[in-house]
Amino acid sequence: MKPILLVTGGSRGIGAATARLAAARGYAVCLSYRSQADAANAVVADIERAGGEAIAVPADVAGEADVLRLFETVDARLGRLSALVNNAGILEQHTTVLNIDAARLQRVLATNVIGSFLCAREAVRRMSTAHGGSGGAIVNVSSMAAKLGSPGEYVDYAASKGAIDAMTIGLAKEVAAEGIRVNAVRPGVIYTDIHASGGEPGRVDRVKGSVPMRRGGTAEEVALAILWLLSDEASYSTGTFIDVSGGR
Ligand code: NAP
Repeated sequence: MKPILLVTGGSRGIGAATARLAAARGYAVCLSYRSQADAANAVVADIERAGGEAIAVPADVAGEADVLRLFETVDARLGRLSALVNNAGILEQHTTVLNIDAARLQRVLATNVIGSFLCAREAVRRMSTAHGGSGGAIVNVSSMAAKLGSPGEYVDYAASKGAIDAMTIGLAKEVAAEGIRVNAVRPGVIYTDIHASGGEPGRVDRVKGSVPMRRGGTAEEVALAILWLLSDEASYSTGTFIDVSGGR
């Protein structure tokens, strides 16, 4: 039996790299996405061409009904979940706290925080040995922004990742005795489409000079850390973090 992994936001960027690597390492993968079906289907096709198993499911993680349907689809089409990567995340145009309105805060926190909580809850319901499960692993995709604060860019996004760090620590302690490990990665500046959402597609190249390694990272480099935290090689690690940030 293959282990079963759900990667939220697995259609592009870090999530897509994670889905591809996980499938190559023997997971049956469900990758979820919000709206770009073509990108999601292309990742599934890549995985299948390479001999792996994957499905793509549209589901907005910020909506509880969508999250419930997503997990029920995994149950029905793949089987009992053994791993979750809480990767779906958004940021918005560069601005200052002075100019942030409530609607933006609600959008960012709904996807990045509420979405991650809802998916973690559904995963625990399926994995916990206290609820008939056989254990599992969750990796949350945080950000170095949680430590750096993203001044003048998106403090709201940074705060959402601070919440993810706290959730990682708290949930890890809640479920450690139920066979579930909960860890997180904090990517630094990584070449993906997310920077275009902030209004600056070339952001990685602008800031890479401030990275001690003097370069941006790749989605594949983040995926390797995620896959390690999911694996049995990380069997005594929970409530902890890997910064994948070139020393930033
Ligand atoms: P990306 O290239 O913009 O891809 C985002 C993915 O998330 C897409 O698959 C997107 O689906 C999905 N998504 C967005 N909102 C969603 C929602 N409400 N429900 C379901 N899926 C949703 O982003 P990325 O750079 O790979 O980022 C992935 C994660 O890494 C995020 O949590 C981000 O905060 C974190 N991170 C990234 C960097 C970086 O430099 N790239 C650094 C630190 C942390 P659609 O394609 O359908 O929109």
